Amino acid sequence: MHGFSPTVPGCGDWSKHVEVQAGLYCRRLCLRGLARQMILLEKIMRQKMLSEALRERFGTKVYKLSLSSGCTCPNRDGTIGVGGCTFCSEGGSGEFAAPLLPVDEQIRHARARVDGKFPARIPVSERKYIAYFQSFTNTYGEPERLKALYTEAISRPEIAALSIGTRPDCLPEGIVEMLADLNRIKPVWVELGLQTIHERTAEAVNRGYPLSVFEDAVKKLKEAGIEVIVHVILGLPGESRQDMLETVRYLSRMKPRPDGIKLQQLQILRGTRLAEQFEREPFPVMELEEYCALIRDCLEILPDDIVIHRLTGDGPKKLLIAPKWSADKKRVLNTLRKWI
Ligand code: SF4
Repeated sequence: MHGFSPTVPGCGDWSKHVEVQAGLYCRRLCLRGLARQMILLEKIMRQKMLSEALRERFGTKVYKLSLSSGCTCPNRDGTIGVGGCTFCSEGGSGEFAAPLLPVDEQIRHARARVDGKFPARIPVSERKYIAYFQSFTNTYGEPERLKALYTEAISRPEIAALSIGTRPDCLPEGIVEMLADLNRIKPVWVELGLQTIHERTAEAVNRGYPLSVFEDAVKKLKEAGIEVIVHVILGLPGESRQDMLETVRYLSRMKPRPDGIKLQQLQILRGTRLAEQFEREPFPVMELEEYCALIRDCLEILPDDIVIHRLTGDGPKKLLIAPKWSADKKRVLNTLRKWI
């Protein structure tokens, strides 16, 4: 309770007393709100967004190049499951990845897509990138082939670091050793698609592994000196706001802790099993304002040493069924800014 006690005052002027008490109560609430806002603001100022962290680390602006390794996914080919995670689209959660071509060609294509974002003052020869193998499970393949592919990518002078998207149950010893070797040449990050800590949701979306597997993977990668980035989806069917915040809180308290986090709203994409489910039995999808308020609470929980790689997802518009607001990136970013 916040101290608003409607006791009858000695003078007997009850309505006046209530008015004064209510005014004080509101002021106290406002001050409390303002104080929380200030603390949060201060905290957010300390938190590192990816672009800033990259500039600090590499001394320049760095962009990610989405590349393909040609791997598939054990949650699709029957090894672990069939049909994949219910939210995963045909492109294996990597719609923007370059088509499977030799690495140098993929890099050339991907550079052509992002080079316009660099300030003109940075000459082409000085531009830096992260080779991001994003779609499907990029450690699910023959280690020698993957080693050759990733070595070729990081050998290029413009590549500052390597980022590998994968599942935590696809990190056998040989693969972790290979990544640790590459990490001695240039920084290697492993991006793990956790999405949620809640087993019932993980089962419902057919993730195909329990939380303990994720915990082991983080431990193993960190022991090998590899940086870990965790993907979380906010708004999975059946999850309450509290459930989502619990996932973020859990990651914030993990030991060892992930180095980075990607938060994104659930997007229902055409052609996925989730889309079928949504069409059959529509379930609530977060409104933009609701999502932004949730992000603010996530930022309040996250410690300063976890780099924030993403606060929103921008999936392929042509496949997007819901939420429609996520197609308007400018509006999403403006609203987020307003909330934060
Ligand atoms: S693990 Fe990744 S690639 Fe595989 S089905 Fe799930 S989201 Fe898609």
